[in-house]
Formats: sequence, structure tokens, C-alpha cells
Amino acid sequence: MGELSIDVIPCLRDNYAYLISDRERGEAWLVDPSESAPPLTALAARPELDLKGILATHHHHDHVGGIDGILARHGDAWVAAHASDRGRVPQQSRFVDAPLGRFVESGIVLGGRPLLAMWIPGHTRGAIAWYIPPPSEGEAEGGDVFTGDTLFAAGCGRLFEGTPAQMHASLQALTALPPATRMWFGHEYTAANLRFAATVEPDNPAIQRRIAGLGERTTPTTVADERATNPFVRAASAEALGERRAAKDVFRG
Ligand code: FE
Ligand code: ZN
Repeated sequence: MGELSIDVIPCLRDNYAYLISDRERGEAWLVDPSESAPPLTALAARPELDLKGILATHHHHDHVGGIDGILARHGDAWVAAHASDRGRVPQQSRFVDAPLGRFVESGIVLGGRPLLAMWIPGHTRGAIAWYIPPPSEGEAEGGDVFTGDTLFAAGCGRLFEGTPAQMHASLQALTALPPATRMWFGHEYTAANLRFAATVEPDNPAIQRRIAGLGERTTPTTVADERATNPFVRAASAEALGERRAAKDVFRG
């Protein structure tokens, strides 16, 4: 079993790309390269790593805009996204037909470990979550899941191509992972998300604690923190989520 590590690569104004690496095997993968320069710089700094593939969480330009430039240098790398994003993700070569509601094997292996995937429509119709489970079942440290713009720390993405019911189901399925699971998301919106969360639940002490301890870079969050503070995860129904999302769309806090 390879030991995988995850490095954060800030991109654009508030985007996160991620570099997953297996130092022992000298292999690397990128998640959501919004632009090519920062990931190429990160790879150039570690010439022992061979880029094997790129994982896209959804087709938006600020998640796939770097793919062409990266493949120009690393032509052997594959590009994986959900099967339904066919034609919308540049140079996509792996079409993962992951189902709703549960993680299944994606057919992709990272450092000897199977990568799981689940379809999470809501923000876009082809959104997919990529999940690296803990090395052995029941491991207390938890696994790692990449949520794109579907789940942010204390927030969720806008409903560009989905319904409140789809977003509700996707968020519930993501936060059904073990509490210690690390959740790596697409944008640093956490401060504004928590200001909104505090208006939804002014008496929730977990939200106040989170605001007090807020750092500049807040990825990853955890399933436990999202269950305690995220107003969209905590929405009791799709209708409640829809109302909160509509309020957040016009929130200036
Ligand atoms: Fe997006
Ligand atoms: Zn985005």
C-alpha cells in the first residue's frame, strides 16, 4: 500500500487545486487544476514525481482550465470526470459512471489503493466526488474526499444545473462518511459561509467556535465539522435547503 499525501495548490483568486502524491512510487495526480502554472510549478519542484492523471470534480472552467496547459507538458496523463460530463471536460479520457447515493470503485487506482467515486449533482449535473478511503477499514484518522463546488466548508455551491432535492441528497450522502473524513473543497469561501451560517443558527455554539478559530486557509474540513456547522447539510429537508440557498444567493454579510 502506498502512502498518499495531499498538498494544497492555491489557484486564481480563491480556488484550490490539489496534488496527491505517492512518494515511494514516484507517482502524482492533480485534482481540479483551474490554471496550469501553479500545478506545473508544484510538479517542477518535485521532479521525482510522474503525473499519472487529473481528476475533475465538474466541468466549470475554474476547475478544468489548467488541463490543456498541463497535458502539453505531461502528455501521458489521463483526465477523469463523471461519464455525464462527456464533451464538457477538456481532453477527458476516463468516463466514470458513478451512481447516486453511494461510493463505488472508479476503476482508478492511486498508489495501489482503489479510488472511489459518487455522483453528486446539484451544483452541476455531472458533479462527482472522489474518495480515498482510509488504508484499513475503521481507521480512526479517516479518509479523504474531494467535493469540488458541491460542499464547501460551512456552505454549498450555487444550484446552477440542479435542484434543491439533488443538492440535499448529495450533501447527505457526502456527510454519511465517517466523522473524521477530511473534505477537500474547491473554493475558500469559509469566512463568508460562516457569517451566513450564524444568521441561520445564531445560537449554534459550534458555528461561533469555528468563526473564532478561523484561519486563512481552511481546507480540508471534516464530516464532523460540516455536520455541526453547515446550514445546507443541517437543512432538515430539500425545501429548507432551497430556502437557505436562495437567501445565501443574495446574502451580503
Ligand atoms: Fe463550479
Ligand atoms: Zn468553482
